[in-house]
Amino acid sequence: MEENLTIKGGEFLIKQTEANEIFIPEEFDEEQQMVAQTCDDFLETEVFPNLERVDEQEEGLMEELVKKAGELGLLGISFPEEYEGFGQSFVTSMLASERMGAANSFAVAYSAHTGIGSCPIAYYGDHEQKQKYLSKLATGELTGAYCLTEPGSGSDANSGKTKAVLSEDGKHYILNGQKMWITNGGFADVQTVFAKIDNDRVYSAFIVESQWDGITYNPEEKKMGIKGSSTRQIFYNDVKVPVENLLGKRGEGFRIALNILHMGRIKLGGNVLGGAKRAIDQSVNYSNERKQFGQLISNFGSIKHKLAQQAIKTFTSESAVYRVSRNIDEAYEIYKNMEGCDVGRATMDAFGQFGSEAAIMKVFASEALDYVVDEEVQIMGGMGFSAEMPADRNYRDSRINRIFEGTNEINRILVTDTIIKRGQKNHVALFERAKEVIAELDNLKDDYQSKGYFEDKRHYVENFKKVALMLMEVAVNKFDRKLVHEQEVLNSISDILMNVYVAESSMLRVQKLEAIKPAEMYNLYKDMLDVYVFEAASVIYKHALDAVHSIEDEAMTEKLLNAVKVYTKVAGVNTKDARRRIADKLIEENKYVF
Ligand SMILES: Cc1cc2nc3c(=O)[nH]c(=O)nc-3n(C[C@H](O)[C@H](O)[C@H](O)COP(=O)(O)OP(=O)(O)OC[C@H]3O[C@@H](n4cnc5c(N)ncnc54)[C@H](O)[C@@H]3O)c2cc1C
Repeated sequence: MEENLTIKGGEFLIKQTEANEIFIPEEFDEEQQMVAQTCDDFLETEVFPNLERVDEQEEGLMEELVKKAGELGLLGISFPEEYEGFGQSFVTSMLASERMGAANSFAVAYSAHTGIGSCPIAYYGDHEQKQKYLSKLATGELTGAYCLTEPGSGSDANSGKTKAVLSEDGKHYILNGQKMWITNGGFADVQTVFAKIDNDRVYSAFIVESQWDGITYNPEEKKMGIKGSSTRQIFYNDVKVPVENLLGKRGEGFRIALNILHMGRIKLGGNVLGGAKRAIDQSVNYSNERKQFGQLISNFGSIKHKLAQQAIKTFTSESAVYRVSRNIDEAYEIYKNMEGCDVGRATMDAFGQFGSEAAIMKVFASEALDYVVDEEVQIMGGMGFSAEMPADRNYRDSRINRIFEGTNEINRILVTDTIIKRGQKNHVALFERAKEVIAELDNLKDDYQSKGYFEDKRHYVENFKKVALMLMEVAVNKFDRKLVHEQEVLNSISDILMNVYVAESSMLRVQKLEAIKPAEMYNLYKDMLDVYVFEAASVIYKHALDAVHSIEDEAMTEKLLNAVKVYTKVAGVNTKDARRRIADKLIEENKYVF
């Protein structure tokens, strides 16, 4: 069945995708735009006026907001209609995640509820479990949480100590242990708890109701940001979990946990876009009002540079996020027709297929948001540092995105490691292509002549791919199984892969926009692409040099260094003028317009 996919996970590295093969956000249909509008209206009326009260953790407020979102049908967008969902695509649920992402702590509660809080039951629950819990999670009658992390078990998620033992009468599992950092922990009615049965080495997953005897909670964690998001430690002391609340099979819990995290990572990529766009609006608004040296600060080149960079990072992240989201929908459509594959299994297999892209989006987009909010503070100067301005909350709230859903260190390693493994298992013909690239190095010529705008961009992107491929081949040959201990090398390659994926996605989107956008706007999209690809070339060059010198393959070093130089060569771009044009549009419209 995998061979029926338009593109497989990790295959972007060896396949040339055409613009008409990708989905871009400009193609949302009317129904999807209505979902987005409902989210926007909900935030304007219910959440934005209450951000202060949310951050003060006013009793019952966050739970009430989540439930109100449920009344509007925003909690079960992609869940089956049979369980009170709307049966919409993953792309549509991503659009809702993006819009809700503008809402600081509420965005975290919403994401935790609709994602990690509900999806384990949606995708692994049996009919009775879904009827009992999912139907109510989808409407907001119940709220959800996901309990994996423990004090001694964070990134090493399967090392937890929470235990489940079957009772003598065989009717219950007796749960004992402790979970930490649980989002929505203070009010969630239903928890997916990961625990090991007897002396199992891997987790099983259980649906636990928060009101059951033996469950106690620490007070709310005091946090740097997302202060309105409920975060608790939860203790389980001889909690009786009915055997019918085992989720999936015994020993399947870790797989469930990881697959849900693949989904959570892509969703985080969408979520941060909403935060970034709102922070850009605020940055432009401020720079269009603040005067220094007798003029608006938006006149200054330094400020224009920041505004343009904020927009470029947001636009490029968005291009990649929606590309992979549609690929997931396509994979799901194929998997669900496979024999013996139910909706849950098909969904999880679709997410698993794009695990490397999910990790790319988690890292790239969370770091993009950090850039955007950091520059928002800077654009506002002293006022940016004032707790009265939204930049303060945005800056603090953004930081968590590099930590949860797997830290960016773990995800960077996953990006390269997952793609290499897919190559080694022959899911994608990665190493065949890598060997061809290495064979080319002896006769490498630096004689490319410009052939046209997109032909040139395509040439650059294909060359960037060659850098990643040759480094993967050489690193695997040099370190073999020990490559996993060479994290610095893996990280360098990951940064190259991320830029390859985002550059290609942005290029294909801009190509598609030619037929959609008026010339004046279209030229600005080209400006964004020009600046991004020009910068990506230097980023890739730098990481490739780090990798070549760290791999120290004496026979290959000279050849590789020459190849890095040739493959990262791009035509010069007047980035100053391009950024000024992008910023001028933002300034003219006084908001993010791309
Ligand atoms: C506000 C908040 C909300 C959260 N919500 C939830 C939730 O709802 N449910 C839930 O289950 N968990 C939740 N978490 C937990 C979160 O997923 C973990 O904090 C995260 O996975 C990191 O684990 P840790 O904090 O133990 O850090 P550690 O694992 O101790 O990591 C410390 C540092 O070491 C690095 N590191 C660790 N291992 C490696 C390695 N192998 N290679 C390289 N570097 C490594 C990390 O990247 C990090 O920089 C939440 C956390 C926070 C702060």
